[in-house]
Amino acid sequence: MKPVIALVGRPNVGKSTLFNQLTKSRDALVADLPGLTRDRKYGDACVEGKSFIVIDTGGIGESEQGIDAPMAEQSRLAIEEAEIVLFLVDARAGLTPADIQIATELRALSKQVHLVVNKIDGIQEEVALADFHRLGFGELHGIAASHGRGVTQMIETVLAPF
Ligand code: GDP
Ligand code: MG
Repeated sequence: MKPVIALVGRPNVGKSTLFNQLTKSRDALVADLPGLTRDRKYGDACVEGKSFIVIDTGGIGESEQGIDAPMAEQSRLAIEEAEIVLFLVDARAGLTPADIQIATELRALSKQVHLVVNKIDGIQEEVALADFHRLGFGELHGIAASHGRGVTQMIETVLAPF
């Protein structure tokens, strides 16, 4: 059985970009406009000889309105299907209230959650990561999905137990 990795996070953090990077396909829509990927997308991926399934979600708060519904239903379904959850945040935007809400929801789950800080290209990684330590997910994974930077190392780390 291939392990399943779900990509979750608020709109625009780079989930679809990471999905494309991992699947090397154009299957997931990548755009500046949040909300273009409306459904879950499944991709076959292989990193350093390890095969896995990756699920892209349309993000959180795109189909559900209101501050009390930060996690869209499709993200919940993707998480249920997954062994590993990658919680993506945006290093350039910094920690946002939506990230904090999503973190609260994810902490309540009995799933392995890895915090992935995307868009570390062209900025000081240490400074960019500092903010996110307070979310309390332990080790942070700094990546630049659009450049592929840090992606292989991050995937190897999260897949190590599988
Ligand atoms: P999603 O809504 O979470 O799926 O985010 P997208 O993958 O659609 O990306 C949103 C925007 O962030 C797009 O303009 C991407 O090109 C940009 N983006 C994604 N990854 C990176 C990255 O590593 N570095 C930078 N600078 N921009 C990125
Ligand atoms: Mg997307």
